[in-house]
Amino acid sequence: MEIDLSKKVALVTGAAQGIGAAVAKTLAAAGARVIVTDLDAQTGMAAAVVAEITGSGGNAEFIVLDVSNEQHWQAVMQQVTQRHGGLDVLVNNAGVVLVKPVEDVTLEEIRRICRVNIEGVVLGVKHALPLMKPRAAANPAGCSIINFSSAMGIKGYPFGSLYSMTKGAIRLFTKSIALEFAALKYNIRVNSIHPGLVDTPMVEHESDKLAQLGAMGATTPAEMRLALQSLNPTGRMGTPQELANAVAFLASDLSSFMNGSEMIVDGGETAG
Ligand code: NAD
Repeated sequence: MEIDLSKKVALVTGAAQGIGAAVAKTLAAAGARVIVTDLDAQTGMAAAVVAEITGSGGNAEFIVLDVSNEQHWQAVMQQVTQRHGGLDVLVNNAGVVLVKPVEDVTLEEIRRICRVNIEGVVLGVKHALPLMKPRAAANPAGCSIINFSSAMGIKGYPFGSLYSMTKGAIRLFTKSIALEFAALKYNIRVNSIHPGLVDTPMVEHESDKLAQLGAMGATTPAEMRLALQSLNPTGRMGTPQELANAVAFLASDLSSFMNGSEMIVDGGETAG
């Protein structure tokens, strides 16, 4: 059975690079109309994602969206309503990482990571609902929300406590709203996804910071990457495409009985 998203409108946050970009391209390849969103248009990276999709016959557009800004969410949802009449799939992918001993974190760092990784997801769900409810009522298969948590939302890791805290919050926020929407008969499924280490710019940044801290005996970013890879039972990092494949399944009607679940895509990192 093939994943068919041809009748769906999907919004992906943080889609200019990394996992979000792969998700946007994969959903579009499966037929979805994709709203590619990210912080700003300056880098041209989101525009490149859109160009790649439209260049291969897909349907995509870029809208600026800082997920921590409620006015942005309101403006984006207004545009989506005008252009598409509703929303079927929301992928809350945007996120930031913080690698630091807890005793050194500043109040502003605590607030920033919570604003993006927690408030950004809550705002996304809140503002997507008015667009999703009528679509979900009209379609027996309903709508789907996918929230990015992490392996670090399941297990603790040294020097990543703030990040783990935010990702753990997303895991239980997801389960609670899945139950809430079921109780309210919204026909909107909500699942979290938990990547292990995936080869993206975020992990580059993480490797640099961990190497500076001398974590795991590594002193350079390259040594750190090898050390991180060796933590995984497969001996490698995941690829953005491997995550995008899982998101496409959760977005599609093939996953119609998945709700409130935590989909772990980590090569077995959290299995032991
Ligand atoms: P990345 O840093 O490579 O890309 C993140 C994207 O989010 C960027 O395009 C960035 O501009 C955007 N972004 C950041 N702040 C934003 C904001 N306030 N509003 C809108 N967009 C914003 O990250 P990635 O590795 O692709 O990670 C994607 C998601 O997967 C994140 O939620 C991350 O926490 C999660 N995750 C990643 C890994 C990994 O190993 N890469 C592992 C577990 C979970």
